[in-house]
This record gives sequence, structure tokens and C-alpha cells, in this order.
Amino acid sequence: EDKFKETSKKLQVWVEDLEQRNSEFTVLSDTVDLLHTCVAADEAYGAIAKSCQILFPGMQGALYLIDETKNLVEMATEWNGPVLGETVFQADDCWALRRGRLYEADATSGHSCGHLSGVAFDRYLCVPMMGQGAALGFLHLRHMRDAMINAASISETISESKKRLILTFTEQAALALANLRLRQKLHIQSIHDPLTGLFNRRYMQEALERELRRSARGKKPLGLIMMDIDWFKKFNDEYGHDAGDQLLVEMARHIEKQFREYDIPCRYGGEEFMVLMPETPLEIAQKRAEQLRKSMKNMQLQYKGEMLGPISLSLGVAIYPFHGQTPENLFRAADAALYQAKAAGRNCVSIATGNV
Ligand code: GH3
Ligand code: MG
Ligand code: MG
Repeated sequence: EDKFKETSKKLQVWVEDLEQRNSEFTVLSDTVDLLHTCVAADEAYGAIAKSCQILFPGMQGALYLIDETKNLVEMATEWNGPVLGETVFQADDCWALRRGRLYEADATSGHSCGHLSGVAFDRYLCVPMMGQGAALGFLHLRHMRDAMINAASISETISESKKRLILTFTEQAALALANLRLRQKLHIQSIHDPLTGLFNRRYMQEALERELRRSARGKKPLGLIMMDIDWFKKFNDEYGHDAGDQLLVEMARHIEKQFREYDIPCRYGGEEFMVLMPETPLEIAQKRAEQLRKSMKNMQLQYKGEMLGPISLSLGVAIYPFHGQTPENLFRAADAALYQAKAAGRNCVSIATGNV
């Protein structure tokens, strides 16, 4: 009977353990599904935080990510209260990132990560998140103080099976974050021109439709300036294609500086650029086009120490709703105005005529 009781007890423990694993597995697979459908980084951070709260109850945590451009680690999100410690630090300040594997410390070990210096803790884990061969950041999980007081023994607070779960979760979360970053990078590439970094034609077509609808709803005008460098073929012939490329890049920077933050400049084609100007009446758009023409004419260009000849622009201006009420018509009106400017001798601004 004793043996039977003992076996039954063991079975009970196993069943509970299996049930626990099963529910953890369900949360894990739900999270992975959710993470893979996130389209924005914030959504993914939120999903990670929420899942950690469910999977690792009683543990505080934070997600830290490496900002490649600044070479710094920054906290992306935290859960179950403030984690304390540094929110921005060097990758070297985390043992897990330095060593590329899980790091566990308790209050007695005396070797806590630099990002936690001066912070009281009982036990914590830092788990690096690896994606496409590089560290993306790490997950930090720490026992909350209240939970510690009730815990029977500190050494039992993070069991081996819990650690395995943490490792699996971190691996999956890292994979999803790496995919999301890659998707975002590809999306950014797909709407930008690689030479100048301005938006490309594809994006402009979408933006024109969107802004036109917005203008129609708000009963506001929308300005469209189309421009083309004069005699650019000759410029290339004289100074070479690389100098021509540099001119295109400088022109792009110049356009960005000359227009407002919410205007949308793009490189429409070879030496053709466009600027969409939300809520802009004709007089202002015309003034801006004229300013740009003048400043480009006066621009001093150098390539490899050699002064390049001056260039000029021809520009066409069209305004919604006067010159066109659909994206195609507004575009055609601006294009026709640009053609007019070329026909009028170049280096000038021409306004669209009539309603196309
Ligand atoms: P127009 O005043 O009538 O506009 O004369 P244009 O010479 O500027 O016009 P055309 O259409 O005959 O030639 C455009 C030139 O733009 C030809 C091409 O070599 C150059 N171009 C297009 N894309 C690029 C580019 O990415 N880099 C460089 N360097 N040149 C380019
Ligand atoms: Mg052209
Ligand atoms: Mg040209």
C-alpha cells in the first residue's frame, strides 16, 4: 500500500509537471505565431513582454537590444515593474553578451553584470538573443523580491526545466526579431532609391494616392513639384558618370534641406525628382520651386577637387484640386508643366494650366 501511495504520488507529480509543460508549450507556440505576424518592432516587444509574464510568473524582466549604429545596448521594454540598472550601456557590460551564452548570478556570487551595478538582486539570468549569426541583444529575467521571500530556497528558484524553457523562448523570440528586422530592412530598401536615399517612384505613387485622399477629406490643397536637371547628359559626358552621381546625391540632400519635414521628396527617375507638398497652396509651391531653382543654379559643385560647371533645373508645378483631381491627372499636369518649362528655354518654373 505504501508503495502504491508512493507511485501514485510520483505519478501525480509527473502529471502536474506534464500539464505545466503542456501549458508552457501552448503559450510558447502562441507567442511564436504572434511574433511572426508582428509588423512593427513595438508590437513584437509587447508580445515578448506579455509572454514572459505568463511563462515566467513571479519574475521581473526586460528586453535589451543592440543598436548597431550606435554600438550601444538599449532597453526596449520591461515587465513586472522597473528592472532598475542602466537602460543604455555598452555590450561589454553584460556577461551574457560578452560570453555569448546564458549568464546566471545570485547575490552571493559577487559577479553581477555591469549594467546592474549598484542594483540589489537575489538571482537573475541574462540570455543572449542570437539572430543570423550576430547578437541582437539579450533577455534579462530576475526574481522579484516578494517572490523571493516566499521561496523555500534561493538555489531552487530557477529550475533546470525553467532554464530550458527560457532558452527555447529566447531562441524563438530572437529568430522572430531577426526576421522582423530583415523584413523592415527589405521594406525600407524597396521604397528608397539606393543612390540618393530618397523615396523612389514606387513609394511616390503610393504617397500621391494617400495624400490626395487626405487632401480631399480635409479639403486642403496638395502641391506637386516635378523637376528635371537640364542638359544632364552633357554634364555626364563632360565630367563623367561618377561626378553625375555625386551631383544627384547632393541635389537630393539639398532638396531635403529646402523643404519642410512633412513634404515628401523622391527621385522619380534618372535625373527627375518630385516633391509632394501637403496642404500647400499654389503661391507657396511656386515660391519653393523658384527658390530651389535659384539655389541649385548657384550651387558650387566640386568633384575630386575639380570645380564642376553650374547646372540648372526646369520645374513644373501642379496643385490639387485645380490642375488635377486624381493622382494620374495631377501627375500629368505637373509633367506637362515641366515640359512647358523645358520648351520655354529651361532653367525656369512653369505652372500647370487648366484642369486636366
Ligand atoms: P534635358 O534638359 O532635356 O532634360 O536634357 P538631359 O540631357 O538632361 O536629358 P536626357 O533625357 O537626354 O538625358 C538624361 C541623362 O541623365 C541621361 C543619363 O545619362 C543621365 N542619367 C540618368 N540616370 C543617371 C544616374 O543615375 N547617374 C548619372 N550619372 N546619370 C544619369
Ligand atoms: Mg529627364
Ligand atoms: Mg534632364
